[in-house]
Amino acid sequence: MIVAIDGPAGAGKSTVARLLAERLGFRYLDTGAMYRALTWLAMQRGVPLDQADRLAELAEAEPVRFDEAGRVFIAGVDVTASIRDSRIDRMVPVVARHPQVRQVMRVRQRELAEQGDAVIEGRDIGTVVVPDADVKIYLVANTDERARRRMSERPGIGADALATDLRLRDERDAINMRPAADAQQIDTTDLTAEDVVERIEELVRARRAAPSAAQ
Ligand code: C5P
Repeated sequence: MIVAIDGPAGAGKSTVARLLAERLGFRYLDTGAMYRALTWLAMQRGVPLDQADRLAELAEAEPVRFDEAGRVFIAGVDVTASIRDSRIDRMVPVVARHPQVRQVMRVRQRELAEQGDAVIEGRDIGTVVVPDADVKIYLVANTDERARRRMSERPGIGADALATDLRLRDERDAINMRPAADAQQIDTTDLTAEDVVERIEELVRARRAAPSAAQ
């Protein structure tokens, strides 16, 4: 079974997807980490972020790997912490915008999806990567709450800068950010991660009980 969790930054995807995967005993795949790792490597190697073909070649040559503990590796380097830097937050949509890059990433994401039960989080999982996912969720939250959550993850950045970063990222990501027609939208603004996970678990149970029924 594949559970696709999409939505904008700060909507709660990572926390919810990780917890849900743990509860269900599924693998967890963070597709944002893949785009982040590629962005980190491109910046490290001085590959200009507007050169789609060179970035796609780099993505092909240096696939992102995850270990059992969820650590992220690219080109043999553990980039788990570095890819959460605010510089990467700002530049990753520039890399992720190139169709050539997305094509390479999506092939890899589908390979990982085909390995069995997984919770996969991203922006385009339910729409493009796994359009036949068994359960599709689209998480949203209001802007203030999203900025507040980001602030606890990015200490050291001011509230105004964070709000601007979030707004710019939304604008840049807009092209790949829409809910699948058959996704269940959940507004997480006033919910705990635990509440959200319980709601999704209910959908998973319903799906297991009636595998062929439409959601
Ligand atoms: O989810 P996260 O904030 O880690 O994603 C980082 C960036 O990667 C997003 O802002 C977006 O530009 C890109 N992304 C994407 N498609 C995905 C996952 C992430 O374009 N499936």
